Amino acid sequence: MFKRYTITFWATLFVGVVCLSLVAVDVWRSLIARDAQLQEMQRLASNVARAMAQHADDTIKAADTALADIVERIEADGLGAPQLARVRRQMQAHVANLPQLAGLFMYDERGQWLVNSPAVLGASLNNADREYFEYYRTHSERGPHVGPPVISRTSGKWIIPVSRRLDKADGGFGGVVLATLDIDYFRRYYQSFDIGARGAVALISGQGALMLRQPFDENRVGVSLADSTLFRAYRAHSSGSGLFASSYDGEVRYNSYRGLEHYPLFVTAALSQQEMLEQWRHDSFTRSIGVIVLAALLGFFGKRLVDQINLRVQAEAELRRARDALEGANRTLERLAMQDGLTGLANRRQLDVTLGNEFSRAIRHADTLSCVMIDVDYFKQYNDLYGHGAGDDCLCAVSKLIRALTPKRPGDVVARYGGEEIAILLPNTGLEGAVAVAERIRQAIAGMNTPHHGSPFGMVTVSAGVAAMAPRRGDLAGRLVEAADKALYAAKSAGRNQVGAAAVPPAAP
Ligand code: GH3
Ligand code: MG
Ligand code: MG
Repeated sequence: MFKRYTITFWATLFVGVVCLSLVAVDVWRSLIARDAQLQEMQRLASNVARAMAQHADDTIKAADTALADIVERIEADGLGAPQLARVRRQMQAHVANLPQLAGLFMYDERGQWLVNSPAVLGASLNNADREYFEYYRTHSERGPHVGPPVISRTSGKWIIPVSRRLDKADGGFGGVVLATLDIDYFRRYYQSFDIGARGAVALISGQGALMLRQPFDENRVGVSLADSTLFRAYRAHSSGSGLFASSYDGEVRYNSYRGLEHYPLFVTAALSQQEMLEQWRHDSFTRSIGVIVLAALLGFFGKRLVDQINLRVQAEAELRRARDALEGANRTLERLAMQDGLTGLANRRQLDVTLGNEFSRAIRHADTLSCVMIDVDYFKQYNDLYGHGAGDDCLCAVSKLIRALTPKRPGDVVARYGGEEIAILLPNTGLEGAVAVAERIRQAIAGMNTPHHGSPFGMVTVSAGVAAMAPRRGDLAGRLVEAADKALYAAKSAGRNQVGAAAVPPAAP
């Protein structure tokens, strides 16, 4: 089935397949690189989220441990002046030890400051309006409470309040112990992550309030994210990841979110997929340009190659056609060289060749072969009377008839011997047979009744001389023709329109 297609087809197919493979491999490599880039992004987001969660947990835990310590001491020792002085020293020691602590404070049940880590503070300030105060006044909860960030009344900076409730001896609300966490402490840590120019990280409360976002925007502090896809995902799985559109700037980011181990908060590390793929896009684009140029070059040179092949194939076909034409012309020439132009009979040359061949064959097979020589009677007069053209026509008609009446066995030849003389070679034929052929021809020509007023017969007639011979080795073919010629001469002398015959004896051995 492959033979049905030309070499040009295969060459074109080859070039096409190479170009296509080049492009396909590039696309495939590009997709793999994209996949790898996305996986890298997911790993990065997951690692950042894990580190942030651990950091937030540890930071809050340290402050909360200090709070628990103070609560335990106050509840055991009471609120006497020496005890409060001890608590203050203790608070100052904690603040000095823990860099995340902006300060430690204690309020009585009305929100009046009792004791705190900063040395001098107006005792007139009241924090009964703060969220955490309200929370503990209304909840008998003993555990820690992490509130939304607020601007500190002492330092004017953003802080995250972590608090615990103080109980009176009777179990009633006795006030609140508060640790304030410096937001800058978190921000400094968050800034240490390389999350790209369009990435973001955030610390969010378990109720969905945004506590801190990096890049920082203080107008966003406390904003509720409770309706966001991110928050719903956190509520459903506590830790996980997904592509979410930001409720802040609308950008779709890959979020890895993670709940804190000990506190009802969670963190999220969000990377811009677009940004993370930018380098990949750039690389892919440059490489694609290279591949396209390469494929174009390949296509261009491939096309030239195919054209060259095409030219060669065409040249070969042309050569074949030229050769066939030449061979045809040669055959025609050969035929023409053996044929008489006027009558279409064999010419003298062919007669000589065939006579030579048949003569040899007759010698080998001890066969008899005959020659009939025919000549139109009074043809000179015919020409003179009717013109040379009519003479030609007459000669053609006579030739046609002779040819029709000659046996058509292989080796039989009818040839124009000269002017209006026609010779017939009859291999494998004795004198009798040859005379019969000659007689039949003579009668048929007379029977044509072609008028010829120059002839005593009044019509075109022929005379024939027949010679037969069983040649032996050493005999010459010329003797047979000569004898036929002689017999013809005899027929002419005897009055024309008749057949003369002579058997040629073989040469003496
Ligand atoms: P005969 O054979 O009866 O003795 O008389 P003849 O007039 O035929 O004499 P001969 O055979 O010697 O004459 C040959 C004439 O045949 C001479 C020429 O005018 C004519 N002739 C020979 N070849 C051609 C030819 O090709 N065309 C024509 N029209 N005439 C030819
Ligand atoms: Mg004649
Ligand atoms: Mg003649």
